[in-house]
Amino acid sequence: MSVARKDVPAVDRPSKLSLPVTSLGNVRPQTVEQLDKLGIRTVRDLIHHYPARYDDLRSPVRIADIPAAPDAEINVLGVISQFKHVRLRGRVRSKSTALIEDGSGMLRAVWFGRPYLGGQLKPGMKIFVRGRVERTLAGPLMSVTQHRVVDADEAFEGELVAVYPLTAGLLNRTLRRLVGKALSIALRDDALRSELDPLPPSVSKAHGFRDARWALQAIHNPRTPRDHETARKRFVFEEFFLLAVESSLRRAALKTEAAPDFSAAGPEHLEQFARDYRALFAFELTGAQHRVIANIVADMLRPAPMNRLLQGDVGCGKTAVAASAILLAQSAGYQTAFMAPTEILATQQFQNLDAILSRAGIRTALLIGGMSRRTRHEVLDQLRDGHLDVVVGTHALITDDVAFGRLGFVVIDEQHRFGVLQRAMLRAKAHGHTPHTLVMTATPIPRTLAQTVYADLDVSVIDELPPGRTPVKTYVRPDAAKEKIFAFVRDEVAHGRQAYVVCPAIEESERAIHSAEKEAHRLQMEDFKGLRVALLHGRMQPRQKDEVMRLFARGFVQVLISTTVVEVGVDVPNATVMVVLDAHVFGLAQLHQLRGRVGRGAEKSYCVLVAPRGADDLGRLALLERTNDGFEIADEDLKLRGWGTLAGTEQHGGDHFLKIANPVRDSAVLAEARKAAAAIIGADPELGNPANAGLAAHLAALDREASIRVSS
Ligand code: ADP
Ligand code: MG
Repeated sequence: MSVARKDVPAVDRPSKLSLPVTSLGNVRPQTVEQLDKLGIRTVRDLIHHYPARYDDLRSPVRIADIPAAPDAEINVLGVISQFKHVRLRGRVRSKSTALIEDGSGMLRAVWFGRPYLGGQLKPGMKIFVRGRVERTLAGPLMSVTQHRVVDADEAFEGELVAVYPLTAGLLNRTLRRLVGKALSIALRDDALRSELDPLPPSVSKAHGFRDARWALQAIHNPRTPRDHETARKRFVFEEFFLLAVESSLRRAALKTEAAPDFSAAGPEHLEQFARDYRALFAFELTGAQHRVIANIVADMLRPAPMNRLLQGDVGCGKTAVAASAILLAQSAGYQTAFMAPTEILATQQFQNLDAILSRAGIRTALLIGGMSRRTRHEVLDQLRDGHLDVVVGTHALITDDVAFGRLGFVVIDEQHRFGVLQRAMLRAKAHGHTPHTLVMTATPIPRTLAQTVYADLDVSVIDELPPGRTPVKTYVRPDAAKEKIFAFVRDEVAHGRQAYVVCPAIEESERAIHSAEKEAHRLQMEDFKGLRVALLHGRMQPRQKDEVMRLFARGFVQVLISTTVVEVGVDVPNATVMVVLDAHVFGLAQLHQLRGRVGRGAEKSYCVLVAPRGADDLGRLALLERTNDGFEIADEDLKLRGWGTLAGTEQHGGDHFLKIANPVRDSAVLAEARKAAAAIIGADPELGNPANAGLAAHLAALDREASIRVSS
C-alpha cells in the first residue's frame, strides 16, 4: 500500500526488516512458497505474524502425582530411560515409545506418525512432554501432543509455545524457527529501534503500552499468559492506528492532487445536466439513487479528486447512478473508463450503458481480451483522439497500449475483485490530473466496518430497491427433498425458464459435500435427463467460462450447474430458480449474493437452500427465508462467523492489513486508535516532528517494500 508523502526522511539503505525471508538462510523454496501464501515475504512480515494460540508447556506434574483420571492434557518433565521407534505400514507410518522417569515414578509416552523422532530421541535425554494420560495396568500412558528436548544443563522451567497460523505443508516448528531468527535480527540491531515502534511516545504513554521490543518478545515467547495479553492489546491498537494514519495521509495526499475541472464548462452545463440525466432512463430513479447522484455530483465539482465507494444490494440500480455521473463527465468534456472483473460482466455493462448513454449522444465502446485486432485498434485510436467518450472493459483497460485523450472519470464495478494496484494503474492513465473515481460493490459491509476496510473512501449507500420488484421467495429444505426440488426445476424449465444449481466444491473432496463436476454428471444422467445442462467452475479457462455464461444468457443452456463463480453480477432475467446444495457451508452474505442472480425479470423467482438434516443447527439459513435486506444479513454473518470471513475484506490491498486486530471484537480499541491517529496527523501532517520519527520511518519502509514488490 503506497502512500505518497513528501518530506519523509530518506533512508539510503533499505531496512534490515525489509530483507526477504530467504536472507535468513536455510529456507527451502517450498517454505518460501508456503510463507508467501500467508503473506509473509520479509523479516518484518515474520515478526508481525502473530501466534494464533499458545501451548502451555509449564508446570510439570510429578509422575507419582498424576491423578487417577486426568481430564485434560498434563505436562511431565523427566529423563528418557528407554526409547523404541518402529516404522508401520499404512497411514500412521510410525510409532515411537519412550519410558520417562522423573524420580517419583515412570511414565510411558507414545507418539504416532512422527517418523523423524527415530533419529531425534535417545535414552539419557531430558525431555518435557505434554499430552493426555490414561491409567493402564502397566502404569500411566501418555499420548504426546507436544514435546521439547531440554539441554542437560538448561534450567528449564517450562514455556508457552506459540502456535502460528499455518498453511498446508508448513510446520509450526519451521515457522517458530524462522520467527525466532527474524526476532533476533529485529531486536539486536539498535538502528531498528525507532522503526520497530511506530507508536509516538505520547500515544504509548497515554495508553500505558510497553515498548515495542518487549511486546514483540512477549507475543512470540511469552512467559505468562498475562504477558501475551498485554502485548496483544498493544499490537491491536498499533494495527488500527497505522491503518487510520495511512488512510488520513492518503486522503490528505489526494486533496492536494488536481482533479479534472468539471465546473469549467460553466453553470449552464450543470443546469443542462440536471435536466438531462433523468431523461436517460425509461424509469423514475428512486429517492436513494437521486441522493447518491447528488453526492457524486457535489464531489465531482470540487477541485480535489473524488474517491467514493457506492454500496448497494444487487439490483438496486448502481448502473443508473454510474451512467448519470458519466453524463456529467462527458458534458464537462471528459472521458470515462469503466472496468468490470470479467468479460461477460464487461459486455453486459457495455450493453446496458450504451443503451442508456446513446440517448444523450454519448459514444461508448467495449474493450476486452477476446476482440479482433482490428476492432481493438479502432477502439484504441478513438480513445486516444478523444472520439470515444466511454470505454467499458476488463483488465484489458490497464494494458500499456491503452491511452486516453482526456480521461476524467474512472468507474470500477465489483471493486473487491480488483487490487489496489489495478485501480491505481487505471487512474494513472489520466494526464495532468487524478481522475474522479467511483468504485461500486454489491457486497454489503456494515457501516462500522466500512470505517476500517474503506477508511480512505467516502461511502454512499443505496438502501432502496426500485419499486415493483417481487422479492425472491426463499426456502430452506433438507437433502431428502432434493428429488422434489429438481422436479420443480424441470417444471420451471418446461415453462421456458432457466435455473442455477450451485455446489460448494468443484471436484469430490474428503468433506462430504456436493461437487459441481459429479453433480453435473449425475443430474444430466438422471433428474435433468433430456435438458440442456452445462457446468461452470473457477478452474475453467476464462474464455471457456465466458462461453458457458453466454450460452446460458442466450437461453440455450437451461440449467447451469456451478460453483460460486456465478456470484458476481451476471444478469440473466429469464433464470427463476437458484438451488444451492450444502447451503450450510456458505456464509449468509454469500448466499444472499447467489440469490441475487434470480428475481431479475418479471417472473416470480425462487431460491432453495438445501442442507443435510441437522447441518444448520443454528437455524442460520432461516434468516434468508425471512429477510432480503443485505445489510441485516451481513450483520448477522459477522456476528456468527466473525470478521475474517466477510466477503470483500480479505483482498483489501495492503498486505499488512489487520493480522491481529478484529474490528468487531476490538471495536472500542478501533475508536481509540482512530482518535489518536487523528490527533497526531492533525498536529503534524507531514510527520516531521522528531516524536513521530518512528512512525515516519515505519511508513517509509512499507512504502519502499510496496514499490519493490510492484517493480519486481
Ligand atoms: P446493480 O445495482 O445490481 O448493478 P443494476 O444497475 O444492474 O443493479 O439494475 C438492476 C435492474 O434494475 C436493471 O434492469 C435496471 O434497469 C433496473 N433499474 C435500476 N433503477 C431502476 C429504477 N429506479 N426503477 C426501475 N428499474 C430500475
Ligand atoms: Mg451491477
